Amino acid sequence: MRIFVAEDDNMLADGLSRSLRQAGYAVDLAKTGSDADAALEREDYSLVILDIGLPGIDGFEVLRRLRKRKYYVPVLVLTARDELDDRVRGLDLGADDYLVKPFALPELKARIRALLRRGQAGKKPRLVHGDLTLDTVGRRVWVKGRSFGLTVREWNILEFLLMNSGKVVSKEDIVEALCGWDDELSLNAIEVYVSRLRSKLEDAGAGAKIRTVRGFGYLLEDADEGGKE
Ligand code: CA
Repeated sequence: MRIFVAEDDNMLADGLSRSLRQAGYAVDLAKTGSDADAALEREDYSLVILDIGLPGIDGFEVLRRLRKRKYYVPVLVLTARDELDDRVRGLDLGADDYLVKPFALPELKARIRALLRRGQAGKKPRLVHGDLTLDTVGRRVWVKGRSFGLTVREWNILEFLLMNSGKVVSKEDIVEALCGWDDELSLNAIEVYVSRLRSKLEDAGAGAKIRTVRGFGYLLEDADEGGKE
């Protein structure tokens, strides 16, 4: 999942993006209102964290423009001032939640999970293939009901393959889904992660396997389906 953060306070912005990346999200960061506005016009995110006090265009205006474009991504507003007016105005403009600074990171993460869960309400928070079940909000995975250990990268790749079940995804698609602007992940690295993930699925008897489609990418299919690697 990809999260967009608009925050001009360097220390807070860096701390936030580091902590969200450690939690397994891809994070893009903007430090001015106009950069945030441009990015939100251009790209798709699962969630937006928006500081109100941004230089140039403020967070209220970024939010107003975002909603005017009928873009209904969940937005969590950060406000420095504990002023009721700011909170009310943010919610009136279409924010889904707010936090008053300073806030504790665990609280922010809990709010993020709640918003993502709500945002997924119409969609399936659990993805299933064979004996494999993946909880996209709680970020856990099971094989035949038993919890199954994956690294953050492996988990993210598996989530992407499950979301695109039945379709061939290219390595470039995977890089785009997994990386924020500042992350770098080579196509070779994707091959390594996929091959490790493939062995883990095989060892666990997940009932799903990753097929390499030469020259195109990868396809998640039932383990008993034919097709040579
Ligand atoms: Ca600020």
